[in-house]
Amino acid sequence: MNIIFVAPPAAGKGTISSLLASNYDYKHISTGDLIRNEIKTGSKLGTELQEVINKGELVSDELITEMLKKELTKKENQKFILDGYPRNVEQAKVLTTLFTKLKINDYIVLYLEVEKEIAQKRALGRIVCQNCGSTYNKYFSECQPQKEGICDKCQGILISRTDDNEKTFNKRFDTYLKVTQPVLDYYKKLNKLKIIDSNQTAFTALESIKRILGVEND
Ligand code: AMP
Repeated sequence: MNIIFVAPPAAGKGTISSLLASNYDYKHISTGDLIRNEIKTGSKLGTELQEVINKGELVSDELITEMLKKELTKKENQKFILDGYPRNVEQAKVLTTLFTKLKINDYIVLYLEVEKEIAQKRALGRIVCQNCGSTYNKYFSECQPQKEGICDKCQGILISRTDDNEKTFNKRFDTYLKVTQPVLDYYKKLNKLKIIDSNQTAFTALESIKRILGVEND
C-alpha cells in the first residue's frame, strides 16, 4: 500500500519515511528534499526557492506539482511514500487526478499528530547531513549521532536547516494550520485517513503504522 503523510512541520514525517523506506522497500518521495536538491545546484530557481523556504511559506503549486509528477512517473512498480505533498486542498485534488491517470488507488493517508511544543523542539534541535540528508537531533538522546557534528552513515558534516529557526518554524506552523490542515477533511471524506500519535519517538509511531499496514510482526 502506498503512503501519504500529512503533518505539521517537524512532526517526524521525514524520519518515519526513512525508516519505512529502508525496512519495507518504499521509494521515499520528499517534496522538501526535491526543493533542497534544486537549491544545492545553485541555480537561479534554487535561489528563489531558498527565499520562499526561509520565509516559511509554500512554493507555488505548479512548480512543486511538476517536480512531483517527474518522480511519480519514474517509479517502477515500487510502493512509494509521499512526504510533504499535498500541502493544501488544491494539491490534494491534483494528486487525486494524477493517481486516477496513473491508475494508483491503493493508498492510505497518515496524519502525524503532534503538539506544537514538541514539534518546535524537534525543529530547533534538528541537524541534517550535508552529504546524504540523514537526520539527527541535538535534543533527543536516541537521535544523536555517535560523534558530535558527524553523520554516522557517511561521515558527512551535520548542519541545521535554514528554516529550522524559531521565527520560521512559527510561520511554517501557522501555514500548516491555515492551508494544510483542511487536507485532512478532504481525505477523511474519501475514507483514506488514519491518525498516528507522533508525540513519542519515531519508533513508537512506526509501530502504530506497522499495525495499520498489517506488517507488525516483521
Ligand atoms: P519539508 O521538508 O516537508 O519540511 O518542506 C520544507 C519546505 O519546502 C516547506 O516549508 C515549503 O516551503 C516547501 N514545500 C515542501 N513541500 C511543498 C509542497 N507540497 N507545496 C509547497 N511547498 C512545499
